[in-house]
Amino acid sequence: MTADELARGGVLVVAGTHGNERNAVHLLPRWRLAPERLSPRGLAVSFTEGNPEAIREGRRYCDRDLNRAFLPALLEDPTQQELEVRRARDLLDTWGPRGRFPCAVALDLHSTTAAMGNSLVVYGRRPADLALAAGLQGRLGLPIYLHEGDPSQRGYLVERWPCGLVIEVGPVPQGVVSAAIGERTEIALAMALAVLEDAREGVLRLPERLVIHRHRRSLDVPRDGSGKPLACVHPRLQDRDWRPLRPSDPLFLALDGRPLSWEPGPQDPEAVWPVFINEAAYEEKGIALSLTEREVWTVDPEWGLALSTLAALLLSADDGNKTRLAVEKTSRPGS
Ligand SMILES: [Zn+2]
Repeated sequence: MTADELARGGVLVVAGTHGNERNAVHLLPRWRLAPERLSPRGLAVSFTEGNPEAIREGRRYCDRDLNRAFLPALLEDPTQQELEVRRARDLLDTWGPRGRFPCAVALDLHSTTAAMGNSLVVYGRRPADLALAAGLQGRLGLPIYLHEGDPSQRGYLVERWPCGLVIEVGPVPQGVVSAAIGERTEIALAMALAVLEDAREGVLRLPERLVIHRHRRSLDVPRDGSGKPLACVHPRLQDRDWRPLRPSDPLFLALDGRPLSWEPGPQDPEAVWPVFINEAAYEEKGIALSLTEREVWTVDPEWGLALSTLAALLLSADDGNKTRLAVEKTSRPGS
């Protein structure tokens, strides 16, 4: 994090980055009406729909996946005018760390069709992100998927803010609003804000250890020459996210009824821990599941320091309202 990025700002909550993940979008009006329910100690929280056009159409995206569109080279190229690229620029111009309503932290709310329960996705190893994730895991026991080192999957929204993570809740079908999924989303969001409130007040307590599931690689089902699947996820693997998969365990079920078992490659660890098993949105990405390695890390005090330094600059709800009024005043000619 550069000193330049460490500016005063609020917390941005994004719902509907994928237009067919509707639970957080459904709850936005309630959160906007009473943000103090989520942040009783009064952080300045801004709420926005990630991809309003895709939400209207009930699709994950219109031109390209918004949560892979936050690549600096793409955003800076004026010839790139796909809807999601324009929306990514718009989100950064409005809520980015140097936007009109600057935000220092982004919490991006998603849902999955996989049976992953409530979990967190962290991209890379930024100390403040790891502290926020550790604080949440310490309070709610949420599993953490650390996504890193995958050149085919890049350009995530939260990476463009000084601190941020994804809250992922499932299983829920695409396009479905479920009260239980909404409730779990709200609990995780409120707890993330509570961790930030603690950090801002200098009373952040982190657990001694952090359990992470580190991304290794993704697997697709076998396909024929024209791309048609020749197998599906084995019924004994379905819904077994976050549980170890060992050599010879059933992986896929071939069309002829034969089980295809997991045979690790030379680079694979002894046990892998699958996540996003049969996630509906990943079919087009050629991903039937992702393999992770479970690791226990000692929580580094530097992480907490990084988050506290950043959180000390978070605006209060009152300051946030003043900024909003000032911006509106200066952007209205003649007033
Ligand atoms: Zn999503």
